[in-house]
Amino acid sequence: MNRRTILKSAALLPFVSGSNELITSAPMARQRSVRFAYIGDTHILPEAKPMEGVAKCFHHAQSHSDKPAFVLHGGDVIMDALAKDRSDVQKQWDAWHTVMKADNSLPIEYCIGNHDVWGFEGAKADPQYGKKWAVDLMKISGRYRSFDRNGWHFIILDSVQPRPDGKWYTGHIDPEQLDWLKQDLAKTGTKTPTLVLSHIPIFSPTGFFSEQNVKDGNWSISGGLVLSNTPELLKLFYQYPNVKTALSGHMHLLDRVDYNGVTYLCNGAVSGNWWKSDTYQQTKAGYALIDLYDDGTVERTYLQYT
Ligand SMILES: [Zn+2]
Repeated sequence: MNRRTILKSAALLPFVSGSNELITSAPMARQRSVRFAYIGDTHILPEAKPMEGVAKCFHHAQSHSDKPAFVLHGGDVIMDALAKDRSDVQKQWDAWHTVMKADNSLPIEYCIGNHDVWGFEGAKADPQYGKKWAVDLMKISGRYRSFDRNGWHFIILDSVQPRPDGKWYTGHIDPEQLDWLKQDLAKTGTKTPTLVLSHIPIFSPTGFFSEQNVKDGNWSISGGLVLSNTPELLKLFYQYPNVKTALSGHMHLLDRVDYNGVTYLCNGAVSGNWWKSDTYQQTKAGYALIDLYDDGTVERTYLQYT
């Protein structure tokens, strides 16, 4: 800075201090609380294409100069455990852990997806039948849980339930979990911004993507696509204005719905069209960077990693 610019700056000082006063009387700018990566529907198999694809996605997520603090996996980690025997399922999880060890250094929080549930008929007597095996491998405290991170409350739901005939699955929050959810929200109060994650969406227009969901001129959206007790959840969230966003996967499609002050985000899929191609319907394979702010706002950036 030379003498002339110093004098120029000095001449501007009264104006600068005047505008500073204006700034301090204006509302404080929002501060980012945390940035994380939503990575979901990875559907890994012990094969080159999915293993390389997942590795590429994790490298991409870790390559940002403004790096995510952790990964939230929205479920369907592996291709499918629903109808496969133990050795087949074990190989899929081994493929996952191989890639995680070699290609990821970020901490991961998991949510259970329908394909992570071991619903194999012949395994009914196995102590790890159903969700137990996935809970063990994901190293999570239970099929649903909550935790706090950087001033936000995170609620991870288990949206996958057996049907009344005992077969898997339908999208639903069971009564026991719903009771827990009500208590958890009550305990959190109405001030802490809260994020809800469920594998199957709570509220999403993605069920409208297919003509197959129209029966005799009427929409027929199955509980396997959007939770069957959504109306109850919408009423519950309405009592808690601090519930700010609800994330999901499952549909492999990308959407955003703002309803009653909650931003519902369905976040595509790393596997795209289950690794058959990189686009499913009109959504490209990808993952999301999610920025949460201290004023309860949320920003999502959906990124292709290929
Ligand atoms: Zn999936």
